[in-house]
Amino acid sequence: MAKRPKPVHQLTAAQFEEMFPHEEACKAYLVARRWPEGVRCPRCGNPKLYDASLYKSFHWQCRNCAPDGYRFSVIAGTIFENTNKPLRDWFKVTHLMLTSKKGMSALQIFRYMGFGSYKTAWYMCHRIRVALTEGDMQKLGGIVEVDETYIGGKDKNRHWDKKSGSGGRGDTGKRRLLVPSNGRGM
Ligand SMILES: [Zn+2]
Repeated sequence: MAKRPKPVHQLTAAQFEEMFPHEEACKAYLVARRWPEGVRCPRCGNPKLYDASLYKSFHWQCRNCAPDGYRFSVIAGTIFENTNKPLRDWFKVTHLMLTSKKGMSALQIFRYMGFGSYKTAWYMCHRIRVALTEGDMQKLGGIVEVDETYIGGKDKNRHWDKKSGSGGRGDTGKRRLLVPSNGRGM
């Protein structure tokens, strides 16, 4: 098994460009991050899958879940599902949100990415932020890891920040998942 590639937020901009020249590369990366021990059914965890990639790339079938087989793709069960945005855009937005010092607002993302609509940018940022806030790295396909960078740590090292929302108390537990400060739209 190949070595697990670095999580998205640890990549430099140059590494990002090099690693993700196209969708295929993004999908291969997602497989490696999501299932480092080999692909498993997102519903039941079954590792004994029928590889359907001959018919459709990055697709598998689990016969454990449905009599005629539950078919799923590499993005099944992640926030990247049910959108018409390529994985590369999702990765890029995630990368931007986590590597910019103060986080990035949906408006900034919208401008930077050149999306056709602000709504798209807002939606993507929202889904990413929710998954991060909930600490649900599976939903992010494992492309992000919770590490020191955003759980507590020294203030100056923080890439993420979130006002506690309680408006006042100086607060704050150290081991707390921090999310980008650009709460716009949440
Ligand atoms: Zn299954």
